[in-house]
Amino acid sequence: MHELSVAQSIIDIVFDHVPVLERPLVRTVRVRVGAASGVVPESLEFCFSAVVVEGPLSSATIEIELVPFVLRCGACGAETSAESGIPICGNCGAPAEVLSGTELQVKEIELAEPSTGAP
Ligand SMILES: [Zn+2]
Repeated sequence: MHELSVAQSIIDIVFDHVPVLERPLVRTVRVRVGAASGVVPESLEFCFSAVVVEGPLSSATIEIELVPFVLRCGACGAETSAESGIPICGNCGAPAEVLSGTELQVKEIELAEPSTGAP
């Protein structure tokens, strides 16, 4: 399953950015997923929660921001979006430049306030 390795690399990125002692405080990992990245958001959510369940990130949840697949055509100048993920202009059918939709990146890691014992 592709999403399983994606979930694993997201967790690696979190580990790279968050020191060991703060990892249990991670609450939300925000990820940008392009519509043409080949990742199924529901599947990624499932894999993420399956992978973190026994580690220091067990209270973290993943939040996925879906980025639409948008193309700009060099031939007719039209900006179109395509469901298929194939970079062909929706207007004239010429090969088009991909503006967005292939990204797969960790955008933000949100941590809870460290517990101080106070309510
Ligand atoms: Zn075109």
